[in-house]
Amino acid sequence: MAIAEVQRACPVCEREAAILFLKKGSLQLVRCRDCSMIYANPVEAELASGKFYDRLGTPFYLSPNKLESDYAPIRFERELRQFRTFCHSGSVLDVGCSTGAFLYQLKTRYPADYRGVGTDVTSAALDHAEQKGIDVIRDLFLPRDFGTTRFDAVTFWAVMEHLVHPKLFLAKAASILKPGGHCFILVPNLRSLAVRLAGVKYRYIMPDHVNYFTAVTLRRFTAAEASLTVVAKGSSHFNPLVLAQDFRGGEQRVPDEARARLLKQTTAYKQNPWLKPVKLLYAGAERILATMNLADNLYVVLKKVSP
Ligand SMILES: [Zn+2]
Repeated sequence: MAIAEVQRACPVCEREAAILFLKKGSLQLVRCRDCSMIYANPVEAELASGKFYDRLGTPFYLSPNKLESDYAPIRFERELRQFRTFCHSGSVLDVGCSTGAFLYQLKTRYPADYRGVGTDVTSAALDHAEQKGIDVIRDLFLPRDFGTTRFDAVTFWAVMEHLVHPKLFLAKAASILKPGGHCFILVPNLRSLAVRLAGVKYRYIMPDHVNYFTAVTLRRFTAAEASLTVVAKGSSHFNPLVLAQDFRGGEQRVPDEARARLLKQTTAYKQNPWLKPVKLLYAGAERILATMNLADNLYVVLKKVSP
C-alpha cells in the first residue's frame, strides 16, 4: 500500500519554490529559494496528523531507558537554568510534554513557584505524565480553546522540528501568553559541529524531524510573530557520544531503542563523579561550541510585548 503523503510550503516564509537539499531513505529535504529554510517535503500524512507519534509512543517514549534518561535530574538542567532566568513563577504550559519530565523537575524542585500543565499527541506518554502527578491536557493544542486562561510561560523543548505547521503553534502560543510572558523554543541545530562532521548520517536527520533550523532561519521564523520579541538566543548541548557513533555509522535509521539507550548512557556518564575531569573538558568544549553556534541545539527565548 502506498503511504499517504502531504505536500508542504516553506514553514517559515510559506512560499513553495524550493530545491532538493538531501535525501536519506524515505526522507527528502528541500531548501526554500526565498528564505533558505530546510524542511522535509513531502511528509507522511501520519506525521502531519500526529498519529505517527501515537504509534511510536510506547516503544520509544515509554522504553525504560528513555524514561530513565528523561527523568534523570540532569536531563533538563540547561533548560531549567534558562527557564528560571526568565520565568520566576506562575503558570507554565509545556507543549509536546511527552512523559512530563520537564514539568516534573519544575514541580519537584520549585513546588511553590509554578503551576504546570502539559499537552502532547502521544496518549501513552500523557498517561505516564499523569502517573507522575503532572496535569495534562488531552486536546490537541491548536484547536484547543483556552478561554480566558493566559500563561506566564509556554515551552517547546525539541518540538518545533516535529511540526508540519510550526508557525500556527507559535502564533497560538503568543495568543495565550500573558503580557510579559515568555515562550521558550529549543530545536536541533542544522549547522552544529555534529551535522558538519557526520553529515547525512547524523541520527537526528530522520523522518520524525520535518523542520531543520539554522540560527538564521530560526530568527526569521520567530520574527514572523510580531507580538513576541527575542530576549535570548544561542546554541547549547553537545553529545560527543552521538557524534562519535554517527560519524562511524551508516545512513540507516538508528533504532529507537538504541537511541534511548545511548541517551541513558550519556546521562549516566554525566552523573558519575569519577568522570569529573572528563566533564570539565566536556563543559569547556560545549562552551566553545556554543559561542560559535556549533552546539547540538539552538534556543530562543521570546517575550510577549504587545496584546
Ligand atoms: Zn521560505
